[in-house]
Amino acid sequence: MSDAASPELTVAASAAEFRAACDAVRASGKKLGLVPTMGALHAGHLALVAEARKHGDAVALTIFVNPTQFGPHEDFAKYPRVLERDLELCRGAGVALVFTPPVAEMYPPGERTRVRVEGLTEHLCGPFRPGHFEGVATIVTKLFAVAGPSTAVFGRKDYQQLQVVRRMARDLLLPVEIVGYPTLRDLDGLALSSRNQYLSTLERERALAVPRGLSAAARAFAAGERRAGELRRVVTSFIEPVASRIDYVTVADPETLEPLSDDAIAENRALVALAAFVGTTRLIDNVVLGEDKDPLP
Ligand code: AMP
Repeated sequence: MSDAASPELTVAASAAEFRAACDAVRASGKKLGLVPTMGALHAGHLALVAEARKHGDAVALTIFVNPTQFGPHEDFAKYPRVLERDLELCRGAGVALVFTPPVAEMYPPGERTRVRVEGLTEHLCGPFRPGHFEGVATIVTKLFAVAGPSTAVFGRKDYQQLQVVRRMARDLLLPVEIVGYPTLRDLDGLALSSRNQYLSTLERERALAVPRGLSAAARAFAAGERRAGELRRVVTSFIEPVASRIDYVTVADPETLEPLSDDAIAENRALVALAAFVGTTRLIDNVVLGEDKDPLP
């Protein structure tokens, strides 16, 4: 494997073409790493590509704004679509294959099949985004079916999604290793997200309450605080003044995602996850206390 950025990028829009290109990679004896995205790429996505390159010889990146994971009042229509810029970034990052299918290619007319993961999807974002994880599990299954990757890399920024995909791959006996990668943050601690471009300057300043709240929880935990209610209160005290709506601030088991009640005592690892709106933009973020580094620099 060379570290040099690859000038050769194959871009496929049809599943047949993408499958043939992935088959050719495997036929040449190379391992394929997959990075599924919705495009509007940023340094977080490119870090996943770099991680995938460590696990495989060739990296395929998919760009698909998946309609089935958006609710009827969510931002599917306005989600940023900047294909030419994304392709340039892929070239610079040494991606070998990009798949940019139209919706009808992934959801052929008359399709009626969905993949549903139970348990994990009942917590955190599940109740606030009905059908979301079913959409995610379905599209990721289809992407795995077309690409046949040895490894697929997902960000811990979407911690629940990562756990759902892990469980789905395990339960369906899919021959793919799921790799989780730490959240990439801006210099001020805000987690990189394609949705950050919806934020006005003032909203972006307010959004810093998210990493600040998580950092305060991380510091409290490091100082010995284990009361779930207190950890939750610390985070909420930062978020409440800036959020137009809080979906949840939850302390949970990092594996099952089961919430800890306020009077419970956290173990040596605990997930703190939140979803809140700043203006009309929904932000999610998390840290695993006792494992992740402090979200503030
Ligand atoms: P998206 O395009 O938002 O669907 O994200 C595609 C992949 O990139 C998912 O696995 C995300 O978890 C991951 N990702 C998004 N933002 C970040 C970030 N700031 N750091 C690391 N991974 C990220």
